[in-house]
Amino acid sequence: MAGKWRCLSRQPTEWLKGKVIGSGSFGTVHLAIDSSTGALFVIKSAISDAGITSLKNEASILENLDSPYIVKCIGKDVSFAENGEIKHNLFMEYMAGGSLSDVAQNFGGALNEKLIRLYTREILEGLRYLHKNGIVHSDVKCKNVLLGASGAVKLADFGCARRLNDNKVSSHKTSSQRYNGIGGTPLWMAPEVLRNEALNFAADIWSLGCTVIEMATGRPPWGLDATSKNPMAALLKIAKGHELPEFPRHFSDEGLDFLQKCLERDPEKRWTSEKLAGHPFVTGKLTYTQCSRKEVAFSPTSVLDVARYDSEYDDDSCSPDELVSRVPFSVKCCFMEQNFLLPKHASENQLESSDNWITVRSR
Ligand code: ATP
Repeated sequence: MAGKWRCLSRQPTEWLKGKVIGSGSFGTVHLAIDSSTGALFVIKSAISDAGITSLKNEASILENLDSPYIVKCIGKDVSFAENGEIKHNLFMEYMAGGSLSDVAQNFGGALNEKLIRLYTREILEGLRYLHKNGIVHSDVKCKNVLLGASGAVKLADFGCARRLNDNKVSSHKTSSQRYNGIGGTPLWMAPEVLRNEALNFAADIWSLGCTVIEMATGRPPWGLDATSKNPMAALLKIAKGHELPEFPRHFSDEGLDFLQKCLERDPEKRWTSEKLAGHPFVTGKLTYTQCSRKEVAFSPTSVLDVARYDSEYDDDSCSPDELVSRVPFSVKCCFMEQNFLLPKHASENQLESSDNWITVRSR
């Protein structure tokens, strides 16, 4: 990996801070201009304890990375907010196209498959680089993939990212580890992560599958019911059920096969980023007839019902109650304290992301 801030040219010393161009659960993002060079960049700032922890984690991960598929960091500093509170700032390259969520919204809600293939290839390159360097992103979703002016996309928001102990491994199967904290956005999280069993590279691959669905439909995975009507049941369904999120019906066979390889419930069987990089969906080498649509599972999108889950999971070793007690605290906040999700109760730093589902982190 690259040395500290090696990826960057020069940290701006004098700048003008512009308007807010984005916000997430733990910070605000401002456009800024370097007074010496005239170059645009962004400043991501956090004031709350959770936000600062997240930003420090992001800085410690990004300062060692150097890849065309990862957003570049150009420095950091500490300043004072108007009320005197300490504010931590991270300077990053400006990605003029915004997030893939913004792009989808600006172009009719969903993206076409040609674009999805292109973006997926680049997201995968970013994941390959991270996984080779022992890092799990943990929060892959459209909102965290940014588009540059030239059309290249890069992975961003490393607030939840984790360095696994076993560095420099190329297969996610060899480096699973139990962990005490969790980070990510619940509807994009892999089943084993929601069950708090393991965090490994395979978790990013599941989230990649969810992100492809998000690009293709313009909505979070698991359908709208999951986000609005019964989030608790939705999480149980992901963590303990046998279903998969609904695959886009208009997708090619290569696309459906790619999703199947990503959205394999057993993390041991899920394809690695290395293997997926050779999949015809992103290389474009395979003909449509080589994959069978019959193998692809479709999930119903009916309204979820917790009672049904009670009976459905009787045969499993872990009851829904047990599951809830095993789901890390911060994830539970998301569906047990509904107010937390409502913008009218949220501070600027807690604004919702991805259709009312926020990123959660615990350390
Ligand atoms: P989350 O709630 O997803 O954890 P967060 O608080 O960590 O969010 P980010 O996801 O890093 O914040 O940024 C929030 C938004 O700000 C992004 O979705 C994007 O629209 C915008 N943004 C962030 N970084 C950049 C950048 N380098 N260039 C342009 N826009 C950016």
